[in-house]
Order: sequence, then structure tokens, then C-alpha cells
Amino acid sequence: MRPHGLFIFLLTILSLTTHALAESAPNAGFVPVIDAQTDRQDSIVDRMAFLVEQEQALSVGDVQSLIRANPDILQRPETSVLANGINSGTVWLIANVINPTDSRIVRRVSVGTGWLEQVDFFLVAEDGLLQHFVAGDRIALNERSLAKRLPSADYPFPPGETRLLLRVETADPLKVPFYFSSIATSHSREQSQTAFYSFVYGIMFALSAYTLMLFVSLRQRRYLYYSLYTGSFVAMTASYNGIAMTLLWPEAVVWQQWAPPLLMLCFTSSGLAFATNFLNTRRHRPWLHRATQTLCITYFALFGICFMLNEQGLALRLAFLVVPVFSVLMLYMGVSSWTRGNKSARYFMLGTLASAVGATITALTVTGTVTYTQVGYYAVDLGMVVDAMLLMLALADLVRKNVDARVEAERTAQIDLLTGLNNRRGFLPVAESLWSLVARNHRNIGVAMIDIDHFKSINDRHGHAVGDRILKKIADELDRSRRHGDLLARWGGEEFILLLPETDPAEAVIVAERFRNNIEQLAVSDQGKVIRCTISVGVASRHSKSVTLDEAIAAADEELYQAKIRGRNQVSSGLTSDEPESNRAASTERC
Ligand code: GH3
Ligand code: MG
Ligand code: MG
Repeated sequence: MRPHGLFIFLLTILSLTTHALAESAPNAGFVPVIDAQTDRQDSIVDRMAFLVEQEQALSVGDVQSLIRANPDILQRPETSVLANGINSGTVWLIANVINPTDSRIVRRVSVGTGWLEQVDFFLVAEDGLLQHFVAGDRIALNERSLAKRLPSADYPFPPGETRLLLRVETADPLKVPFYFSSIATSHSREQSQTAFYSFVYGIMFALSAYTLMLFVSLRQRRYLYYSLYTGSFVAMTASYNGIAMTLLWPEAVVWQQWAPPLLMLCFTSSGLAFATNFLNTRRHRPWLHRATQTLCITYFALFGICFMLNEQGLALRLAFLVVPVFSVLMLYMGVSSWTRGNKSARYFMLGTLASAVGATITALTVTGTVTYTQVGYYAVDLGMVVDAMLLMLALADLVRKNVDARVEAERTAQIDLLTGLNNRRGFLPVAESLWSLVARNHRNIGVAMIDIDHFKSINDRHGHAVGDRILKKIADELDRSRRHGDLLARWGGEEFILLLPETDPAEAVIVAERFRNNIEQLAVSDQGKVIRCTISVGVASRHSKSVTLDEAIAAADEELYQAKIRGRNQVSSGLTSDEPESNRAASTERC
């Protein structure tokens, strides 16, 4: 209900001003004249006079007598659309239609508001003959004089003068754009309205259905709320502009009176549910979340009471009361979420702003504050379309952020945070594919297991933090020492693994020896003291086609063990296959 509600809220305020101005209009007191040849697309209420019914209902005769007795009783609207706000009472619109020709002129008279409860058209010819047509959403479609969504009547105006009296009764906001045109012009107006509503409803339906599908597959409630929000917008507007009654419940006149306020509550509640879920209000503003829930429950309970007491007018006032509360809440939630750093909230804010601006333009247009245009009249619906699309963007933005976060989580799961090297999870898939590629091409590949010597005692002597720093320094040095194409990873603790593609066993030992030497030269200072470390390295090579990566790693581990028991700070290498023992490279001497 936000945009339409806001619009009606503004309309109510502005219309009170309009009403007050109209009452003091200087040109009151005579029955205005309309040329029967008039064929206009837009409303011509400003060419009529109006009279507000007081306590008791008036008949045509009563009105005619009142005018005769005191023409000053008539008032002139200041704008092309008469707007008197909610529950403003029954209004009569009066004009004399002059047909200056010799033949009858058929004209369709209609009111462009689908929610008015009853509209009576009275046409009094010069000879006193009275014609009566009836319409309005309190009357079943096929019982109206013309079975149309908007109150309408066709009348062949005879030559001379015909008095046209229009009685408009409603508990809803009184808004009377009155049209006087040929049937062809009326059709073309209807067509442009149909095209417009098809456009708006098409977009809203598509968004609603799409997010409902997303909810079914992803089970995230925000999609359901968004779907309900856009869907109830369609239901709400279609209920009060008469489209729903025409298409879905042509006979259900009682339901037609209750549907608009009920659907207004559904629209606001689903909008608030979406906002609180999307902006995570429950976590950031728990009191606001609770207050919103309580408000919605209270509104529905009060609506239920109104329904049981058959107080339709009260239910409407209640529904319109939700409007400013709803708008303020939505804006507050959006601003506070945005200022807290939630970037997705900017789309939410822009959307809320778009619907508010649209509602204001429509309010200003229908009250005649700005010149009437079709775009101005429909700005409220266009604003809601923009709002819905921006909210969709906000949802997409949130999905993108979630995907980015997942990708980042997956990436960090493969990286060792202390050293920045790949960890075992990051190393193994790449190493395995490299290993099988090399094996298929009968090429050499080596594996080296590297372990820092006596690292425990470094921790014990200098503390864990210094141990971390040294570990990082050694990792950096190993990374710097490796050749392009060699794969280095932290295997765990103070152990590293190195994969050496296109490297024969002898070369692998040379590379490992270079590593060992570089680490031996590395000096780390701590509080003026210089700390030096050594590493032991076990090297293994793929030697027969059947040796797997796991077997090579196990062999390198075994060689590492050998290096340790031979005194550490050395490289030990061996063949992993059925190579003769004599082919094994001898252990490097300890430095
Ligand atoms: P050896 O020469 O036999 O390998 O002796 P060592 O002390 O290096 O071996 P040992 O396996 O007994 O101890 C390894 C030590 O490495 C113990 C553990 O606290 C330390 N270490 C493992 N990971 C880290 C780490 O991330 N940071 C620090 N500071 N120490 C670690
Ligand atoms: Mg060690
Ligand atoms: Mg160890």
C-alpha cells in the first residue's frame, strides 16, 4: 500500500485544501454549461458545479428545487478532478448540456475511478423526461447500466438543453475525474489504460512469479516476501481500480467493499516483512523488528474487529492510517541500514524514494496542483515498478555478495593463512593432475619433503610468535628459491612439500641442496639476537610408470626420516621404484 497509500494520504491532505478553496470560489451560484459536441480525452469536472449532500440523502427533485431556490448553493471545483478525501460524503455534480444542432448527439459520460460505491447519472430533458443510469462497485457488474469497470452511461443528447446530474457516493476517497466524450474517444482512453495496466501488471507479475520460483528452489524467505509484496501490489490496485472485480468477482459486491482495505494491509505487511528480512533488522535493530511485527498483528486484529462489526468505513480509515506509518518505517529502516554500511540498502532506498516521488507526482496531478498529464496520473504505478525493479537489483546485489563470499571462503580454505602458500587442500588437486600428465608422457618428476630442524626448541626458546615469524621467513625464502613451475605448499606444522616437474633424480637433489643451503644462510633477528635455522629434505622421484603421487610422497617422507636420523641439515634422496640400490643418490653431508 506504500505508494498508493501514500498517494491517497497526500491526496487527502491536499484535497482538504482544494475543498476549502472550492467553498470560497467566487463564481459559485449558476449551473455551468457543456457543449454537447465536446469530445475530450481528459476530465472536465472544472466545467461543472457541485453540491455536497448534508445529513440526509437527496433526490433529483430535491436537488433541482434547492438550485431553483438558491443558485448560490452550487460550488465550482477549482481543478479538473474533484477530490474530497476519505468519507467526505455524497457529492452531486451538475451541468447543463446544450446541443446546438438539430440532431441527437450520442455521448458517453463516465467517471474514471473504479472504487466509488455508487454513481447515479440523471439526465433531465427540457420536457422534464428523466433518464437514470446506475453504476459503482456496490452493484454487480451485469446490474450496472453499462457492464463496465468504470461508472459510465451512454446518452443521445437531444437538441436543446439537458440537465446532467451525477450523484457520487463512497466511503473510499472521493475522487471524480469526469469524462464527456464520444464512444470512440472513450474506447481509445480505455485502450491506453489497458495498455498501461498490462505493462505495469506484466512486470509485477513476472517479478512476483520469478521470486516465488527462487523461493521454492532456494528456500530463502526474502524471496517469498518480495513475491508477496509485488503480488499484493497487483491484487490491491486491481481491487480498487475495479479490474479484479470485472475479471474475477463480478457478482461479489460485499467482498469488493472489503478487499481493498484488506489487500492494503497485506501489501504493507509483506513490504515490511521483506524490508526487515532483507535489511536484517532482527539482528541490527531487534526492537524495530518486534515493533513492526506487533504493528502488523495489531492492524490485522483491528481489521478483523471492523469486519465483525461490519464497520467498513472504519476499516478503510485504519488501512489509510497504515500508510504514513509504513512509509516512515521503510525509510527509517533503509536509512539506518545504509548508514551502518549495508551497500545493498542503497537500492532499497532508491526504490522507496522512487515510489514516494511517483506517489507525490500523482497526488499533485489529481489535485490539480500541477497540470494534469497521463504520465503524472500514473506516476504512482510507474514509481512502484521502479521500486520493484530496484528491489530486485538489491536482491541480486545480495546474491552476488554471497557468491563472492563463498568463492573467497573456498579460496582461503586452500591457502595457509600464516605463510600465504597453498595448503594441502590447495596443493593436492594441482599436484595430482600434474603428476598424471607427466606420467602419461613418460617424463621425470620429483617430490621433496622439507622439515625445519629442531623447530620445537626455537619455539621453546623464543616463543611461539617468533616461531611464527621464522616459519613465515622460511616459507618466503623457499618460495623465492623455487623455480617457475615448481609447486610449493605447506604440508602441515613446520613441514613443506615441493613438486618438481620435468626434473630427473639428480637434478632434484641439486634443487633440494640449493634450498637447504639458502635456508642455512637465512638469518632472522629477534631483539638483537640472530636466529638461524636448518632444514632436512627427503627427495623421491617417479621412476616407473606405476608410481603414484601418494607413493612418491611416502618415499620422500621416508627419505626425510633418513636425513633426520643421519644428523639433520641434509638432503636424502632415493628411488621409489624397483631401481637397483646402487642407483640411489648418496645422502648429502651435513653442513
Ligand atoms: P625435528 O628436527 O625432529 O623435526 O624436530 P622438531 O622440533 O622440528 O620437530 P617436532 O615435530 O618435535 O616439533 C615440531 C614443532 O613445530 C612443534 C610445533 O609446535 C611447531 N610448530 C608447528 N606448526 C607451527 C606453527 O604454525 N607455528 C609455530 N610457531 N610453531 C609450529
Ligand atoms: Mg622439525
Ligand atoms: Mg616435523
